Formats: sequence, structure tokens, C-alpha cells
Amino acid sequence: MERIYNFSAGPAVLPREVLEQARDELVNWQGCGMSVMEMSHRGKEFMGIAAQAEADLRELMAIPANYKVLFLQGGASTQFAMVPMNLLRGKASADYLNTGEWSKKAIKEAKKYCTVNVVASSEDKNFSYAPAQDQWKLSKDAAFVHYTPNETIGGVEIFWTPQTGDVPLVADMSSNILSRPIDISKFGVIYAGAQKNIGPAGLTIVIVREDLIGQTVAGTPTMMDYKTHAENESMYNTPPTYGIYMAGLVFRWLKHKGGLAGMEQHNIAKAGLLYDFMDTTDFYNCPTAKENRSRMNVPFTLKDAALDEAFLKGAKERGLVQLKGHRSVGGMRASIYNAMPIEGVKVLVEYMKEFEKKNG
Ligand SMILES: *Cc1c(COP(=O)(O)O)cnc(C)c1O
Repeated sequence: MERIYNFSAGPAVLPREVLEQARDELVNWQGCGMSVMEMSHRGKEFMGIAAQAEADLRELMAIPANYKVLFLQGGASTQFAMVPMNLLRGKASADYLNTGEWSKKAIKEAKKYCTVNVVASSEDKNFSYAPAQDQWKLSKDAAFVHYTPNETIGGVEIFWTPQTGDVPLVADMSSNILSRPIDISKFGVIYAGAQKNIGPAGLTIVIVREDLIGQTVAGTPTMMDYKTHAENESMYNTPPTYGIYMAGLVFRWLKHKGGLAGMEQHNIAKAGLLYDFMDTTDFYNCPTAKENRSRMNVPFTLKDAALDEAFLKGAKERGLVQLKGHRSVGGMRASIYNAMPIEGVKVLVEYMKEFEKKNG
């Protein structure tokens, strides 16, 4: 079978060129006689792979020198605990924006460590928008401000950067990291699980400002302390070596594709195809507020939910898979991360038109 168009929210589509290169190098990496999976993480081959991956990520995201890049495990969900453990620094509370399912999980975990002040919530409208900053009630004594710039399930993206003054800003960028340029200097911590826009599951990337490292709450396990990983180049224990290698290939691919500015144009074009089409018909409905329409995850419903099964079946026959919406919201969701080619989105829109003609 030829490759299909995979709209999964994660683990998600990877660039074909990257998969082909990984295939070519799988058994014998660059003539060294072994696979990357078989290498010692302390050997010169793998140290070189990891250093190159970090250098390419730093270049792509223009990461300033006073930030550490950590290659960890445990997923974004582990960061829900590691962020308060590392960033409370003697304070008793933190500010959280609540824009959906992932915000809620981050808040729930933080409550184990501190008082959580929810600065604003969009729960009143079923998490279909993000409250503007002038509605946020920031508190003066917060140790940090946490938000989720792209809610993967609700398809709500925030395109502006919150202003938090001297209070460090923390972002869960799991589903929109590398999708457009951002100014890293505005953030204290950025974290992301790799399996949406970076590489295979098993790798988690944390970008942390150096002065925030080293003041963990009492009882923080060694493995949960950013300092442990920062001081050991993410090699305190065995890092997810193959995931780091794959991420490195993706970073190279992004550099060839015009970097993050190039990706942003590509992503605007792809998302535009879907949203612009949906604006022309009431057969399909996108529940998200226009200014928060995610470029990565596009949720939509059919006018008649009784047609959902037929829609998904027909899509699958055309090689368009994983379009079923998250179990908590229903309907459909098309995740169109960096690696989804524009052809995939075009085929989807053509199919949607055809399905509407037949059933509208
Ligand atoms: C997928 C996702 C998570 C959870 O990531 P894991 O790596 O599975 O722990 C957290 N936040 C956001 C925004 C996500 O999209």
C-alpha cells in the first residue's frame, strides 16, 4: 500500500524524507557498522548526533545562550509536575490559564504542589476560545504563569504571547512547537512531548532559562530536577537515544524547508484551505472562535451526526485516516502538523465537498 494521509493528533505523521533516511541508516549508521539504537549514549557517534540535534534546534528556534535545552522522557504529562517542582522556588502559588483539556490536567497536577490561581477560563463556552489578556486576573505573588498555546483536543490556538512582567511564563507547546517562529526570551520554560510535531513518542523537550534551575521543592526526585539534566547534557542516565536521532533528522528537514518562517507560511496555507472551505457551507461546522482557530488541529462537526460513520468510512477508502474527533468532544478532527503535506489537505477538502454533495 502507498502511504496514506494520517490526520492523527499524536503520535502523528512524520516527513517521508525523514523516514526514508532513517530506513537507509537503520542497520548501519553512516558506515559505523551498527544502528543508532545499539550505540552507547556516551560514545562519540551518539554524542555527535545529540550535539548536532541540539545545535540545529537552537538555530531553528533562535534559542538564546542563557537557555538550556533538555532531552527528557516522561512526556508532557510529567512536566505537569516538574514545572511546579522546579519553578515554585519558595513561593506558594502559581497562575494558570484554563483553555481546555490539557490546561485542566496541568492545573490538577500543580494543585498537588501549590495553590493554583486560574487567571481566566473559557469553560463557559465549552473551551471554544481563549480569553484575551485583559480578562486575566494575574496575581502578584505567583511563582510562574502557565498556559497551553495550542489545545490539541479543542483546536484552540493562541497566536499572541502573554505579558507577565517579571513572572516567568511557562508554555506547554506539545502540539504547536516548531510550527512558527516565537521569541524564546519571553518564556521561562517551554516544554513539548515529541510525538506531535517533533519525532517519535518517548522524547520530551524542555527549554528552560538558566536562572530558574536549581531551586526545587523539598523531596524532588533527582530525575525530576532540571538541574540534574542541565548539568549532565541530558545524559545523567540513558536518554531516549533513537528519539533524539529522529528529532535531529526532523530538525534538518525543517532547515531545508525554510525553517520556522517557511513552516509558518506552509501551515497558514494548509489550515486556510480547510477553514476557508468550511466558511462557505453550513454542512460542516467549526466550533472554534475565528481568532483562535488552530493551524495544527482542526476540529469540525457534520450537520447531522448520524452521518459521522459514513463520513469516516468514505474517508478511509480514500486513504484519509484518523479523522475521528477526540472522545471527549465527538465530531471530527484533522491534525495537520508540519509533516502533513498540503496535498493531503487538498484531498481531504475535495472529499468533504464530494460527501456534502451526496448527503447535503
Ligand atoms: C499530547 C499533549 C500532552 C500529553 O503529552 P504526553 O507526551 O502524552 O504526556 C500534553 N499537552 C498537550 C498540549 C498535548 O497535545
